[in-house]
Amino acid sequence: GAAAAADVRVTPMMAQYLEIKAGHPQSLLFYRMGDFYELFFGDAEQASRTLGIVLTKRGKHLGEDIPMCGVPVDRADEYLERLIAAGHRVAVCEQTEDPAEAKRRGGKSVVKRDVVRLVTPGTVTEDRLLDPARASLFVAVARRRVSDDAHVYALAAVDISTGRFSVIEALAAGLGAELARLDPREVVVADTIYDDPELAGLWRDLKVLVTPIARDGLDPASAERRLKDYFGIASLDAFGAFSRAEIVAAATALAYVARTQLDARPSLAPPRRAAAGSTLAIDAATRANLELARTLGGERAGSLLATIDCTLTPGGGRLLAERLAGPSTDLALITRRHAAVACLVDDTILRERLRAALKATPDMARALSRLTLGRGGPRDLASLRQGLAAAGEIAALLGAETEIAVELTEAADALRRLDPALADALDAALADELPLLKRDGGFVRPGYDAGLDEARLLQADSRKFIAGLQARYGADTGCRTLRIKHNNLIGYFVEVPQTAGEEFVKPPLNATFVHRQTMAGAMRFSTLELGELEAKIASAADRSLKIELAVFEALTAQLTGAAPAIQAAADALAALDVAAALAHLAVERRWVRPVVDASLAFVLDGARHPVVEAALARGGQPFVGNDADLSPPAGTEAGRILLVTGPNMAGKSTYLRQNALAVVLAQMGAYVPARSAHIGLVDRLFSRVGAADDLARGRSTFMVEMIETAAILNQAGPRSLVILDEIGRGTATFDGLSIAWAAIEHLHHGNRCRALFATHYHELTALSERLARLANVTMRVTDWQGEVVFLHEVVAGAADRSYGIQVARLAGLPPAVIERAKLILAELEKGEREKPVAALIDDLPLFAAVASRPAAAPAAPGPDPLREALEGLDVDDLTPRAALDTLYRLQALA
Ligand code: ADP
Repeated sequence: GAAAAADVRVTPMMAQYLEIKAGHPQSLLFYRMGDFYELFFGDAEQASRTLGIVLTKRGKHLGEDIPMCGVPVDRADEYLERLIAAGHRVAVCEQTEDPAEAKRRGGKSVVKRDVVRLVTPGTVTEDRLLDPARASLFVAVARRRVSDDAHVYALAAVDISTGRFSVIEALAAGLGAELARLDPREVVVADTIYDDPELAGLWRDLKVLVTPIARDGLDPASAERRLKDYFGIASLDAFGAFSRAEIVAAATALAYVARTQLDARPSLAPPRRAAAGSTLAIDAATRANLELARTLGGERAGSLLATIDCTLTPGGGRLLAERLAGPSTDLALITRRHAAVACLVDDTILRERLRAALKATPDMARALSRLTLGRGGPRDLASLRQGLAAAGEIAALLGAETEIAVELTEAADALRRLDPALADALDAALADELPLLKRDGGFVRPGYDAGLDEARLLQADSRKFIAGLQARYGADTGCRTLRIKHNNLIGYFVEVPQTAGEEFVKPPLNATFVHRQTMAGAMRFSTLELGELEAKIASAADRSLKIELAVFEALTAQLTGAAPAIQAAADALAALDVAAALAHLAVERRWVRPVVDASLAFVLDGARHPVVEAALARGGQPFVGNDADLSPPAGTEAGRILLVTGPNMAGKSTYLRQNALAVVLAQMGAYVPARSAHIGLVDRLFSRVGAADDLARGRSTFMVEMIETAAILNQAGPRSLVILDEIGRGTATFDGLSIAWAAIEHLHHGNRCRALFATHYHELTALSERLARLANVTMRVTDWQGEVVFLHEVVAGAADRSYGIQVARLAGLPPAVIERAKLILAELEKGEREKPVAALIDDLPLFAAVASRPAAAPAAPGPDPLREALEGLDVDDLTPRAALDTLYRLQALA
């Protein structure tokens, strides 16, 4: 009876927990209990699995044990990091009143608690949860209907950790490419868009958390109101001309900020609108294939970004990544950036001074964001102190120059707009050495606040007083080993050896010394004086911490008030860092300023692949520079196609990619690895690699290859640059050859774009006779003592196909096979002109006939396995590799 009734009673704490949890069904709830965040029920099971921490029980709910696990508050970041990485969202629920308050209310009252924040991958601000080299974006997606079956999408990208906020529109076909460029950590969409079956594949391929949110309140009118309210403006015109979808996307982003940050309000910059098409379009597959920010294996090391990153500050590193992800198509902007780099290439002294000053610049943007959100610590203030000082120094440095590039002047102006009072305030208030947490105190500089100095003096004096007291007690009691000590449990106490302690519990000493504890070999006592002193010290410590926290809040308020100027300065420092880093790179590696203009030219002299070159350089090997000319031939108005032939390992892929990378580099505002470069603006970049590079992956890869090739042939325009590497290899020879053939013709007549096409289909070189803008180039290879040597040099003409066999010999194929292959090749080449390959197979004497063993006696009539195998062959369906395997099989049968 009574026991059963107790079982179904829900404790007040559990009632509170369940109510809060009900509001956050999709998140793990971190429920604050003293020094721990505790998780219950399913959350506890999830978290203990993900974190590998012990799952225990705490009490019962409806007669069942409650599964529970906990993480210490001090180390919460570490656990959050792992939960976020595993794709969870976490709702952090704090005690929102002093527990003493709840006690005063009496009865069964529980401490008030509330969720203060939702931690999701795209909205974190803690240093530990952020990658310094990467923006931490979430993107909100909205759309508008432009016809019965077409939408235009708007993307609003927000980085809470720095305050950046931008919007852009994209056509449905370009949505994936825009998301790939932004590389968000989380995507937020209205549930109606989320549920659109046409987008299901896109969300799946994104590999980041996609959060659907309810549509309510996201209609255009409420959206506009939300934006105006957030920025405190009467009209959105101040921000530029936004489309309705852009307004809805921006408002969705703000709604998500409010939902995750609750009461805290990050200082976001007003949304900046990027015009559609203002960046070089690079779809996700091309981006991956060119290994711009990550290698195909997913690593940063070995990517183009890692190879060119000479920035010195986290903000600069992020800006460089952003520019590399989205090279510009705006000629004026590109030229401006080149001019800034040129200025710093030419002026070595300025460049080095600038870089020396930048070296000392911490991550101001992220420190400011934490302070604004009320999550900052003394070290964030220190970051701003140091950053503001560097900003002042750099402004002075640039101010002393008479003629520098516009971009540099504008950055210097932004730095000069900082109120010097900010740096002064931080300098005056902050101590030299700072604790991690503000609640540890000790970060305010002595002499800054008289009240604080007094309280600290009292604490220091008390310590002296304690030393005096210890001496006096020692003398009075005659116990010279008497010590005054302190611990957190009983505070200050007098400690004497056990033997002496016997005297202290007896008159007259027990009048002064009150026994507290007996330890092994020691006894502990308290005294009235010590108690009074302790209270005084505690209140002084209390007072000084209160004053310090007030100083902290005042400084934070001052900085938050100046947030836009500080953000602008942080942006300016990042831009300077990028310009100086690119200049440094250009000087160190002898890169050249490219000419980028509105033509369709494409002329590179002695160009190199920066990543391959760096890799070779580590082994002390030189990289052979190569020319490329894709400019429209005289009298024509469309760019050239280069057909690149040459054996495997000759350097075809490297050559193709280096030309694409030169475009990315030139248009992001960097110099390029070449002797000279002239690039007519490219608006879209496409790159595809034939599937046969990975034979093991089989047929579906060929399908992917064809889908991607289809996209290129459907989308590439006259300003596109297309790179196709071994297209058609993933299928039987004649299929592949025909597809490659037709694709080239389409590129030539239809797309009319600049293109590089690497192939091992030697037959295609004949196309140059019929296609006016197609030129053949080949990788030079030479014989040295009968061995093939790759010269890695691109020359006009077609490859001598027999080098394939030379490579095979290099790989160690038995001499008999090599000889045989040569014979087959000769026949094939002859046959190609006279009869189809299938017929040739019948005509060619069998391998066994030339093998180095005596001819066999005529076989008795009867079933002949060799003949059967031959008849069972579908020659049309053989890849070159399979053909070779088949030859082996046939030989074994003979
Ligand atoms: P392919 O595509 O023809 O099979 P790759 O482009 O993959 O050949 O190049 C193979 C290797 O040759 C590269 O990994 C690199 O080490 C070397 N290589 C390529 N191009 C050059 C070059 N221009 N100078 C020096 N070495 C090169």
